[in-house]
Amino acid sequence: MRMIIFGPQGSGKGTIASRLGAKLGGIPHVSTGDMLRDEVKRGTEIGKNAAPIMNQGGLVPDSVVNKLLEDRLAKDDAKNGFILDGYPRNITQAHELETKYKIDAAVLLDVPVWLLLSRLTNRRVCRKCGEVYNLVNLRPKVEGVCDKDGGEVYQRDDDKEEAIKERFALYEKVTMPLIEYYRKKGILKQVTCDKLETTPDQNVAAMLSVLGVEG
Ligand code: ADP
Repeated sequence: MRMIIFGPQGSGKGTIASRLGAKLGGIPHVSTGDMLRDEVKRGTEIGKNAAPIMNQGGLVPDSVVNKLLEDRLAKDDAKNGFILDGYPRNITQAHELETKYKIDAAVLLDVPVWLLLSRLTNRRVCRKCGEVYNLVNLRPKVEGVCDKDGGEVYQRDDDKEEAIKERFALYEKVTMPLIEYYRKKGILKQVTCDKLETTPDQNVAAMLSVLGVEG
């Protein structure tokens, strides 16, 4: 299964994608956002150039992201499939992907704006392993400390209000046409999540159902 998961910032797609991979035979969850944050953390040349763009909620140049992704998907664990999260982010990236892989499904997580805002401003992430928490419905057991590895749980700079506004505007402008693109190709599926109390596992189950896979 080679699939793309789409959803606006705060739709929970990262959390869902990482759990979905396990249910789909262990295929990897490949997030370009996580990969870029890792470059920043390691202080690489790519990271140094990307950090200011990411902090302002802009898009890192296609050439940089395309190369990162190409190298990641060439690894052994992606041989039998992958779940892409955060890529493609525009039509140019979609075309680039198509030159290399046949995509089986693009799933849109449809979440209303009020719920997104609540999720984003309450989102916290582990600085060490990237595990995602939410102060409303997915709190770490000990405040500020990751359940998995004891790392510091913090708020990403791009989850602050100004950056959020910029990212919503970008999502509307650049990413929405992609949804139409995959709809026309006939591989778009949709999962609607419009309740604050819906758990990631319930969303994973809904995803498996639209994909026609037994949970
Ligand atoms: P979110 O889904 O919360 O917006 P991501 O973790 O997917 O955030 O990405 C964080 C940032 O990394 C983006 O705001 C953008 O600057 C950069 N980024 C991630 N993926 C891409 C991509 N495919 N193309 C360009 N920039 C990207």
